[in-house]
Amino acid sequence: MFDNLSEKLERSFKLLKGQGKITEINVAETLKDIRRALLDADVNFKTAKTFTEKVKEEALGQDVLSAVKPEQMMVKIVHDELTKLMGGASTDINLKGEPAIILIAGLQGSGKTTFTGKLASFLKTKRSKNPLLVAGDVYRPAAINQLQVLGEQISVPVFTQEGSKDPVQIAKDAIKEAKQKGFDLVIIDTAGRLAVDAEMMNEISAIKNAVKPHEILFVVDSMTGQDAVNTAKEFNDRLDFDGVVLTKLDGDTRGGAALSIRSVVNKPIKFVGTGEKMDALDVFHPSRMADRILGMGDIVSLVERAQEQFDEGEARKLQKKIAKNQFSFNDFLSQIQQIKKMGSLKDLAGMIPGMGKAIKDMDFDDDAFKEVEAIIFSMTPAERETPELLNGSRRKRIAAGSGTSIQEVNRLIKQFEDTRKVMKMMGQGKNLSKLMANMPM
Ligand code: GDP
Repeated sequence: MFDNLSEKLERSFKLLKGQGKITEINVAETLKDIRRALLDADVNFKTAKTFTEKVKEEALGQDVLSAVKPEQMMVKIVHDELTKLMGGASTDINLKGEPAIILIAGLQGSGKTTFTGKLASFLKTKRSKNPLLVAGDVYRPAAINQLQVLGEQISVPVFTQEGSKDPVQIAKDAIKEAKQKGFDLVIIDTAGRLAVDAEMMNEISAIKNAVKPHEILFVVDSMTGQDAVNTAKEFNDRLDFDGVVLTKLDGDTRGGAALSIRSVVNKPIKFVGTGEKMDALDVFHPSRMADRILGMGDIVSLVERAQEQFDEGEARKLQKKIAKNQFSFNDFLSQIQQIKKMGSLKDLAGMIPGMGKAIKDMDFDDDAFKEVEAIIFSMTPAERETPELLNGSRRKRIAAGSGTSIQEVNRLIKQFEDTRKVMKMMGQGKNLSKLMANMPM
């Protein structure tokens, strides 16, 4: 799904590689590429423009975090903006009403009837509803039959009126029957046309006025890109629907509909169809969709965790200690603990751009820090603060205490001293966490 868009966005982030921070100058090319990627994905022109403007504003306003590279920060910003663009949080459907009435609208072939079945099955299993389906497409006998077949598959009854050509009356009668027979949910499938026409709109408006649905869902084929957005607008102008259902997201869709609909009609996407089977239905979560579009959920969570964990005040204190060559084993330990808090080693390594695929099947030892920690824990407070104290006999004691060997203790002390030297040379603790993460353990 959205493969092309994902690849292009990934390429645009790479343009920031090697930069110390995001500036007006170095971000320009990236923004241009992001906008082009969105337009290629058939995102509405205005939406793409506003989007890149917001990304720019965010990017220039960000604090420089020592643990995060500009290209990673950019992934996070684009992720958050994509989430906002698609509506922020997910929006539930309104099931209040005795029975609750849901009206399904959309063009022919959009996936209305399939969705009607999927929704009934979903609400039956996930929300313990007792639905009645209504076959409101009186023009195509095959449509009624199609709904009956689906109803049988999911064990949900379908209300039909043989020979009737009056969908308003059918809907009213279905609701009457639902009340009599104790159904708490009525889902009305309606007739579509190949294109928007007045007759279809009049008919569905008449049903709306007659049954006063609690929820009107507009179903649209995501493969139709900008047309989907235009159709949504026409239906919304007439029906003022409550939510959008995007179907066929399992296909080779470019993403334009998913990304533009919300900002054009200002109505939330509530469900997405991901296949022909009755269980191929997902509740729409903007943030998860943004994850999928970027294919970089890892980096997004890395930046989030770094933003949570890294205390800039602590980092400054540490910089001072390093400058005075007072960096101790206690600081070393707390750095390791910070890195550990950020996630497993495999996760962290996978977040390094380009590493993800390379290490996918590798075995990572999440206990790699364990020995190091054991050795440091076996030191006395004085030894941790003043590593110069660590003579031969102390090293022997520490090896025995930590269950390691004297070679391992020596190696760690050597690494620590090397680290200290490098830090001193750098003169500041700016890239401390990166340095530590890259240390051979
Ligand atoms: P309607 O005319 O709007 O009622 O559309 P249908 O429900 O008959 O769907 C039209 C076609 O699209 C059918 O062949 C469905 O199986 C197919 N379809 C519907 N939803 C999806 C979906 O989410 N993914 C895929 N791949 N096919 C779908």
